[in-house]
Amino acid sequence: MKKTEDNETKMIMEQTLDRLYARKGEASTWCYVLLVVLYLFATGIVSVTAASGSAVTFFGIHIPLYTFAGVFTALANICVLILTMYFGTKGFVTSLTFLMVQIPIILVKIIIANVVTSIPGVFSNVLTIIAVCIIYFSNRKIVSVQKELRNQAVNDVLTGLPNWYACTELINALISKNIPFVNVTINLNGFKSINDTMGFDCGNQVLTEAAGRWKAIADSGETGTLDFISRLSADEFCLIIRKYKSEDDIIRTIDMYESAMEDHFSVYGCDFQMTASFGYSVYPDDGKNINELVVASNTAMKKIKKESNSNHILKFTSDMLEDNTFELEGKIRKAIENDTVFYMLQPQFDMNHNLRGFEALARMKDEDGNFISPGEFIPIAEKCGLIDKLDGIVFRKAASFAGDLICNTGAKFTLSLNVSVRHLMMTGFTDEIRKLLDISKLPPSQLEIEVTESIMIESMEKAKHFVEEIRDMGVQIAIDDFGTGYSSLGYINSMPATLLKIDKTFIDDINKDDKSKAYVQTIISLGHIMGLDVISEGVEDESQLATLREIGCDLVQGYVWGRPLPPEEAQKVVMESLQ
Ligand code: C2E
Ligand code: MG
Ligand code: MG
Repeated sequence: MKKTEDNETKMIMEQTLDRLYARKGEASTWCYVLLVVLYLFATGIVSVTAASGSAVTFFGIHIPLYTFAGVFTALANICVLILTMYFGTKGFVTSLTFLMVQIPIILVKIIIANVVTSIPGVFSNVLTIIAVCIIYFSNRKIVSVQKELRNQAVNDVLTGLPNWYACTELINALISKNIPFVNVTINLNGFKSINDTMGFDCGNQVLTEAAGRWKAIADSGETGTLDFISRLSADEFCLIIRKYKSEDDIIRTIDMYESAMEDHFSVYGCDFQMTASFGYSVYPDDGKNINELVVASNTAMKKIKKESNSNHILKFTSDMLEDNTFELEGKIRKAIENDTVFYMLQPQFDMNHNLRGFEALARMKDEDGNFISPGEFIPIAEKCGLIDKLDGIVFRKAASFAGDLICNTGAKFTLSLNVSVRHLMMTGFTDEIRKLLDISKLPPSQLEIEVTESIMIESMEKAKHFVEEIRDMGVQIAIDDFGTGYSSLGYINSMPATLLKIDKTFIDDINKDDKSKAYVQTIISLGHIMGLDVISEGVEDESQLATLREIGCDLVQGYVWGRPLPPEEAQKVVMESLQ
């Protein structure tokens, strides 16, 4: 059973390859038989006519029969050449046998029967044997190169698994025959960090090893279902499951592929554990064509990957599409068009609770008036190229508010604005800031731009250039979320920054043990050595505040002294600070 089904997949692949190479398939047996018969007939005529002394009369002309020998020798030669060209080894062996057998026959005729007219036949035969050999061996070379090219068209060079093209061909063939199947998208977890930390060679070895383990399962048939595993790109694989009886069968099969990752991977003397995320969709329930099925399984895979709990397998359900990127992208576009993006201001204080300034934080609501978290919409706005517009709205509104307040009261607070790297890197960013200062009348020294540490690492030199330009205008620079991006101290030191913002995650743990406290203390010392002020983000209670005071922190931002406030509330805080 299994064998015949495997043959079905093989057949689909062969048909694909034939189509790719416009190959019509090997010439049919009856053509072979026809050529053999024609050859035997032609050589029969040659042997009869070559030695004949008689002639035929054609339109009154006497034509000796032996003149026909040349014509039929040519016909016989054409037959063996065609056999060699189109019938592979079988045709070559047949042709060679015919030609070899003829030589002693002709020689006998010449020597014993003294038929000297057959002498040219010997030369003709020898030359044809040479021609047949040349054709056969050069044909073999072409066929082997072709075979290699054909394999490359449907196989992934690194892992040897079928590639995306082969996978789509199989899916399309199954859909056209209306055969139910499961489409599983598999993605290795944490593969990027292996590539980043251990290099591409190591990454490639991991991919090859994972592919090998999965191929062994698919080939063994131990899952009880009929499986086809292919590599789509980088660390993404596709598993097609057929011949399952129930949902349990599907889960059991995918479970086996997941379990194959349990044994540690050993690459270049390093042992590590790998896991993979599996999202699957079922034909025809979850999609009628390849696109729908792939989008569905991808959505499920991304969802289970994001949840990153112990379960790594998820079936697609239609409600998953509702919370996807497209919808949020539409909401962001609408909010930008209607200018409904707004901001809150979270106060920052020195350790004596004196107001230092405010961080402007973008806010958005959906049609029902529910808040959407910046943690959700900022990454989407970055991905779909809307972040500069979104940042721009917050910049304009917050700067205009702060500029007016400063002009009216003479207050000395700082306004901090978050900028995304995609926005920072845009040509015209420095002009945008210059214009912002101009319109809002905000003194440059009271404006601060927050750039996250991880962003700086991604695009070091370019980011540095832009940051320097803004700094030259007199604007302050804060390194946001410090401690989360593993940047080199040398690099941070070379940034013309003025403030270091310690990420909330370190503040959360600060009173957990001595080590965590010492860690924050070290960051504060480092900041001071580099000549920077240090602010702690996400300070929520008095005990954290007390520890930060003890270890020399300069500033705090957090719920303990102030949540993000609407501008009117922030104005009250400023007025109070002036009394
Ligand atoms: P961030 O710049 O690190 O901002 C600090 C975040 O921590 C804010 O979350 C703030 O509300 C929150 N936070 C402050 N103190 C506390 C606390 O004591 N406890 C807790 N649990 N949270 C606290 P928010 O407003 O959700 O912003 C999240 C991130 O979104 C920001 O992190 C920033 O990276 C980004 N973001 C916000 N507004 C903008 C913007 O206008 N433009 C850009 N590009 N990114 C923005
Ligand atoms: Mg920030
Ligand atoms: Mg931060």
